[in-house]
Amino acid sequence: MNVNILEERTGQVYEKGQGPFSLKCNLDSLPGAVSQRACVFCGSRVVLYPITDALHLVHGPIGCAVYTWDIRGALSSNRELHRLSFSTDLRERDVIFGGEEKLEASLLELIERYMPSAAFVYSTCIVGIIGDDIQAVCKRVSQKTGVKCIPVQSEGFKGNKRAGYEAACNALIELVGSGPIDGISPFSINILGDFNLAGEIWIIKDYYRRMGIEVVSTITGDGKVKEIQRAHGARLNVVQCSGATLSLAKMMEERYGIPYIRVSYFGVDDMADALYRVADHFKDKRIMENTRSLIKEELDSLYPALKEFRKDLKGKRAAIYVGGAFKAFSLIKAFRLLGMKVVLVGSQTGTREDYEELEAVTDPGTVIVDDSNPLELSEFLKEKDVDIFVGGVKERPIAYKLGIGFCDHNHERKEALEGFIGMYNFAKEVHATVMSPVWRFVPRKEMRS
Ligand code: SF4
Repeated sequence: MNVNILEERTGQVYEKGQGPFSLKCNLDSLPGAVSQRACVFCGSRVVLYPITDALHLVHGPIGCAVYTWDIRGALSSNRELHRLSFSTDLRERDVIFGGEEKLEASLLELIERYMPSAAFVYSTCIVGIIGDDIQAVCKRVSQKTGVKCIPVQSEGFKGNKRAGYEAACNALIELVGSGPIDGISPFSINILGDFNLAGEIWIIKDYYRRMGIEVVSTITGDGKVKEIQRAHGARLNVVQCSGATLSLAKMMEERYGIPYIRVSYFGVDDMADALYRVADHFKDKRIMENTRSLIKEELDSLYPALKEFRKDLKGKRAAIYVGGAFKAFSLIKAFRLLGMKVVLVGSQTGTREDYEELEAVTDPGTVIVDDSNPLELSEFLKEKDVDIFVGGVKERPIAYKLGIGFCDHNHERKEALEGFIGMYNFAKEVHATVMSPVWRFVPRKEMRS
């Protein structure tokens, strides 16, 4: 590999086949390396944000709220309160004298004006430094208004995005268990870890409906406070992907005895596997039969369409850089199904187990990278002669500046990429991007030479 990597980061990059597998991860980002990771507050905001009928109040300077305003598509079937970004807009005076009064006044005003089903109050870096007691304020306002106000201890500096997921789960467990659970079917689940970015949760919910399974709550895509409050009545937690809500599933198992399984709804194999594993959990003949016929029906129409895309895409090269590594497994399989080769795969917050699994499923020569940065990623993309880069909002400009196709598989996607229809949409988008005539007019080839 002929790529410049900062000396301190060399242990976080591995090229398959170049010696025994070893990759350092779960480390603090190297100062100055310009990590693609977000802060703790951002991590908690992305998890809680899709709860559509809750008030989301950022206690901090205006920049923290602006940075995460409308951060995800997160479609709603009902209210859209989540799309408004509220902030206490802390100023110098508040930093000196404390911001609790301002927080309480803001909460009271917003609750009166918007009548939310609950309120989340996010703590930011400066709040952690000045020591405002947001728990006490939330408790007081809950008592005064009857609206549950939940503090999210997400001070930005206390870790990385993964710590934000934990803070969000700690806030969510405050809601779970406070609603009635009568009338819930014995064949019932909660969907965890999907954020309904392009309406995916509606696709997945429909699959479960066709299987004969009740979805009690969706956490947090198209999330509704009342549904989350009765989530402890479901018989199984089905946790998708990145691990953003995994610790909530663990807490619910401990507190309410609800088992959980981890699944992915991306790609054909993983989507089918997710449905079969849920069906298998309930050991019900009718549910299993429904699942079989659902999958057969979906695949009968999907496979011929994929075959057409595959003709053009065979042999093309893809790179993947995502937040949580779990999604990368499904993407690798999805690209293989399209006849493409994954030459780079990395994540912001992967664990040792994630990377071991990535090493097992990738081809020799594939670069595996943890907590990368724009300069490194640019070099890998050029070195590996990539045709399409899959990532999120921060990776998009890297690809376009190099004249490389890009597929947003994160916050900004507009097409549903989960489910069988999602695999079709993904293949269509990859095909349109890779085969676009626009690449004849950009200097991609020269940059690589
Ligand atoms: S919480 Fe801290 S790191 Fe995060 S956006 Fe606000 S100031 Fe920046």
